[in-house]
Amino acid sequence: MSHHDGILTVNLRAIARNWLALSRKVGEAQCAAVVKANAYGLGMVPVARSLAHVGCRTFFVATVDEAIELREGLGEAPVIVVLGGVRPGREPALVANAIWPSLFSVDAIARWQRATTVADVSAPCVVKVNTGMTRLGLDLSELANYVASPEARQLDVRYFMSHLACADEPAHPLNREQLGRYQEAAALAASVWPQARRSFANSSGIFLGAEWHQQLARPGAALYGVNPTPGQPNPMEPVVSLRLPIIQYRLLADSAAVGYSATATCQPGQRLAVVLGGYADGLQRQLSSRGEGVFAGRRVPLVGRVSMDATIFDVSAIPESELPPIGAAYIEVLNSELTVNLVASHMNTIGYEVLTSLGNRYQREYVELGDLPS
Ligand SMILES: *Cc1c(COP(=O)(O)O)cnc(C)c1O
Repeated sequence: MSHHDGILTVNLRAIARNWLALSRKVGEAQCAAVVKANAYGLGMVPVARSLAHVGCRTFFVATVDEAIELREGLGEAPVIVVLGGVRPGREPALVANAIWPSLFSVDAIARWQRATTVADVSAPCVVKVNTGMTRLGLDLSELANYVASPEARQLDVRYFMSHLACADEPAHPLNREQLGRYQEAAALAASVWPQARRSFANSSGIFLGAEWHQQLARPGAALYGVNPTPGQPNPMEPVVSLRLPIIQYRLLADSAAVGYSATATCQPGQRLAVVLGGYADGLQRQLSSRGEGVFAGRRVPLVGRVSMDATIFDVSAIPESELPPIGAAYIEVLNSELTVNLVASHMNTIGYEVLTSLGNRYQREYVELGDLPS
């Protein structure tokens, strides 16, 4: 098969095995999957279907539109929670699709109750409390006031959650402070919503220890191969590879400046390969003169500035006789060796941003689930 553009290969078996490994790790607790932002750029519906197939029953997305698309893709059974809550006017869409909003302020709770009482329907929801990240969530004092109000008992709360700010730094004191506040908040919540299950840990939170697992873990990044334990060996399997087509070879006859702003200079006899793909495709400009590729089994350095749609590699190390012809020549920029984590370090960012920056111009290919080894 010949392809003209970049090919992003997503290994659904590896994602499923990562989920199974996290499930085992949380023991008695359940394991959900966070598939927001198109499953961190990898394809929400194929990823979620694979995870549902291996036993995942709860999915978290960021927006109502994502949730509706996911409901269509997954059918009725799985629980779908919208982390970004519900903006005024969208309540009927949630109710109609049996989607649960995360409610993170007293106002949001009141609005959900008004909208769903009028409709006289069952309206399960998730309540989120702020335990120290100071992003979304009721403060403990707001929660205490609310649970003392008569309306509280009418709210059908299925999960009671909070989110960790520093889970990827196990020694950070905020991890234990947040756990303490969460436990205090959960005790308040249990007094009015005894059926609500506790959900606390993201990917890295799962590795902090059993106390952080609570009843439902919410991993995202680790499913997709991002290392949840930075600085330690990655316990997760790599999931993505990305190969970009070479569209021009160039053997330098003279020394020459290479790329925008002439930041690199190459010597006579050096051979360059230009691939189709640049910062518009998630090869962030930070990779300029820092990134690497794998070509014909060898590491090749990225030369000069990354441009919008094109990136230059020095392929001098590959003998001319081994150069595949244009049309069959690709340079890999992500694979099991050039991992998301390594590329993130070249970009001065985190694996999350590498994945979600990947862009829409790649052809996505999936390694299907097949029969998973247990
Ligand atoms: C994104 C998100 C997660 C998943 O976090 P990872 O670090 O990717 O595992 C879990 N919970 C909430 C509230 C989130 O916003």
